[in-house]
This record gives sequence, structure tokens and C-alpha cells, in this order.
Amino acid sequence: MRVDVSDIKRGTGLWKPFEFEGPAHFEGLELEGPVRAKFKLTNVGSRILVDGDLHGQVRLSCGRCAESFVAPLDLEVDEHFIDEASGEVPADENVALEDLNIFTYRDDRIEFDEILRQNLLAALPVKPLCREDCQGLCDQCGTNLNLGKCSCPSEEIDPRWGPLMKLKNGS
Ligand SMILES: [Zn+2]
Ligand SMILES: [Zn+2]
Repeated sequence: MRVDVSDIKRGTGLWKPFEFEGPAHFEGLELEGPVRAKFKLTNVGSRILVDGDLHGQVRLSCGRCAESFVAPLDLEVDEHFIDEASGEVPADENVALEDLNIFTYRDDRIEFDEILRQNLLAALPVKPLCREDCQGLCDQCGTNLNLGKCSCPSEEIDPRWGPLMKLKNGS
């Protein structure tokens, strides 16, 4: 995804919309189906502000049961781009630069892919769950407990109580 910004560079306040709908590929992400993106590019002086959102679906692997599942992917985008040729970001900005993610572009063209990829990867859950109450796998036999119970004893007996249990059972 790439947008020519030579037109809005002509004056502060100029803006243009950018929309994308179709298949996309981001390394490290297994997207399912098309991606829809709607951005607004605004010349805010020394920078181009890109804001908007992106929606799609991604295939993830459950952190408990290891089954793969498809989850919605929703991303808010709010990024600033400066022209690589302009050098440093002017120091008179009333914005703390460390609060902003500043990216550069060159030849009047903004490339979204790498920025989106980073944002998408950062937005993924650390431990995705196929569902809130995923039962996971039996840690003894590996059965997927979402699909059915296994015959392993459901509660582990503290080994210290073992002898007592035996006494109680009269064995
Ligand atoms: Zn699961
Ligand atoms: Zn089991």
C-alpha cells in the first residue's frame, strides 16, 4: 500500500483520503480474507498525519489448546510521516517527539506496509485464546478438553496425602 502525497504537500491543511480493500500480505501474519483500510492523510505542516483504521481477520493459534482459529483484526492508525529529504523534525513543534511515532517517506510516496505490519504485530494478543473459556489440553494425556473429557484423574492428588488416602480407603 503506497500513496502519492505530492498533491497535499503543497500546503498545510490539505488532505486526501486513501482507501484499500483487497488481499494483503504482512510477513509474520496469516491473514484470512481481504483487508479493508480507510485512512486520511493530512498535511499538518512539517509532517503528514495518517489516521484511520484497518480491519481484517487473522488466523491465530490458541495459547491453551493450540488449535488454530480466526480472530477479527481491528487496528487504529495514527502515525506521522516526515519527508526524508527534509531531514530532522523541526524543533519548534509543540509536541513531545518521543510521544509520536515518526516515520519517514521519500519521493513523495508514503509506504504503509511496514508500519502496518509493526502495528498489527503489536496489536496481537500475547496469548491468544480460541475462546474465553478454552479448557486447554490435559497436561497428562494431551486430550483437547474442549472436545471431550479424558479418563485422567481430574484433580491431582498432593503426593503428601497419598498415604492418608490409602489409610482412609482401608487398603
Ligand atoms: Zn483454545
Ligand atoms: Zn488426560
